[in-house]
Amino acid sequence: MEANMSLSLNSFTQLENFGHSLRAPSYLFRPARAEEIYEVFCLAEKTGLTVTARGAGRSYNDAALNGGGIVLDLSAMNQILEWDPASGLVRCEPGATLEQLWQRVEPDGWWPPVVSGTMKTTLGGCLGANIHGKNNFKRGTIGEHVLEFSALLPNGESVTCTPEKNADLFYAMISGLGMLGIFTSVTMQMKRIESGLLEVHAWPAHDLHEHLSLLLDNAPGYDYIVGWMDTMNGGKSLGRGQIHAANYVHANEDPNPQKTMQLSNQVLPPRIFGVFPKSILYLFMKPFANNLGWWAVNIAKYAASLRRHTFRQPHAAFHFLLDYVPNWELSYGRGGLIQYQSFLPRETAEQAWREMLSMSLKRGLPSYLGVTKRHRPDKFLLSHAVDGFSLALDFKVTDGRRAKLSQMLQEFDRIVLQAGGRFYFAKNSETSAESTRAFLGEETISKFKQLKKRCDPNHVLESDLFRRIFE
Ligand SMILES: Cc1cc2nc3c(=O)[nH]c(=O)nc-3n(C[C@H](O)[C@H](O)[C@H](O)COP(=O)(O)OP(=O)(O)OC[C@H]3O[C@@H](n4cnc5c(N)ncnc54)[C@H](O)[C@@H]3O)c2cc1C
Repeated sequence: MEANMSLSLNSFTQLENFGHSLRAPSYLFRPARAEEIYEVFCLAEKTGLTVTARGAGRSYNDAALNGGGIVLDLSAMNQILEWDPASGLVRCEPGATLEQLWQRVEPDGWWPPVVSGTMKTTLGGCLGANIHGKNNFKRGTIGEHVLEFSALLPNGESVTCTPEKNADLFYAMISGLGMLGIFTSVTMQMKRIESGLLEVHAWPAHDLHEHLSLLLDNAPGYDYIVGWMDTMNGGKSLGRGQIHAANYVHANEDPNPQKTMQLSNQVLPPRIFGVFPKSILYLFMKPFANNLGWWAVNIAKYAASLRRHTFRQPHAAFHFLLDYVPNWELSYGRGGLIQYQSFLPRETAEQAWREMLSMSLKRGLPSYLGVTKRHRPDKFLLSHAVDGFSLALDFKVTDGRRAKLSQMLQEFDRIVLQAGGRFYFAKNSETSAESTRAFLGEETISKFKQLKKRCDPNHVLESDLFRRIFE
């Protein structure tokens, strides 16, 4: 096929990561059909530019950025192609979001088996990063629930992959951050639910040791578990916070399951306290986005967490807490934020995080928000998971802090590597090619490079992330 497309300055756009800490001007194309993706590949070969896929651009780092190159925005390919409420099988285009998905399946008594902390992500992006949810320790990553996907490779081939057919590509493209090919459709199995509610238990953790022990000991008894960590207070309080663990509510425990599964019972309210439109709420957060402000917020949140309690919550409210405040990331100001998520084995996590959290406090570069989860390993090639825990930390970026932060996060990388940990390519912005080699290992990298040669012999698919971690 000849390339009908051409580069025009009209398509040249400044793109950013989710945290608004990175910028990359690129030629933006928004295909409506798979054939147009192929045309963009042809255009790239003709012009010598590289191509990066982009779903909703919700990665915290440079995974969906391609400075000076072409960005393929797949958000217009967002149809739910087939939905079978009897079997829970769904087939979607890659630009369909988790929001579209859960809203389609929930009223029929199903829920996506794995979701991210925001519902704005697309299925293509979720497979590219192989996202995990608050049930990673039990249900694995999203890739474990994919029955089949179709993809277009830069070599012109269209492939269909399942765990048995083209298995090497199945396990490498899921987690492969769009560096081998572009998903064009995804078939997944949804999870049966009997109520629109979860029963949530909340209890405090007084220090880091107790925090991790609570995650470890309680995870087996729950469907979901997640911790909030006060990352602004050190000493004996270091690592204190609150654990939330939830179980599905069964039909005999919910007097009206048909009602609780209706969308009207799930969608997040447009106003806070019935008064303030959510869209302006981030403006009220802005004055707190400094060390003193977040220190006070953490103290107040911890004080409110001390009471053990149990409550019922709609699925959407439990999973997508961050979507309650649209554009919350803008409250961090012009420099944006970096999220650093490390995955550590259970034996070494406490010591490593003690060192990292103490270092950040000592240097006056504290994280404003800490989130912990319990994980288990998986079979995907560029896997980030371990039998242990993850801790995601949000750092404010300013011109004055940027270099110091970058240096500290590279020191964090060394601590993580020494502790046998791993990194997640949808989050960290600093992890270098050297650190990548150290955690993935030569064998995995060589397998990935062989597949890259087969699928993309002319290196059409490259992102800023690819250049950072592989070159
Ligand atoms: C508030 C918030 C909460 C989050 N919570 C979690 C969480 O709980 N768990 C978790 O695992 N992650 C979480 N994330 C990270 C997020 O889920 C991932 O970064 C996800 O990849 C973003 O999806 P996206 O559609 O925005 O993809 P993008 O960010 O646009 O792209 C992600 C990667 O996928 C590739 N890609 C996109 N579409 C395709 C396609 N069609 N074919 C091939 N490759 C493609 C891109 O090239 C890129 O490398 C969170 C992010 C935010 C902002």
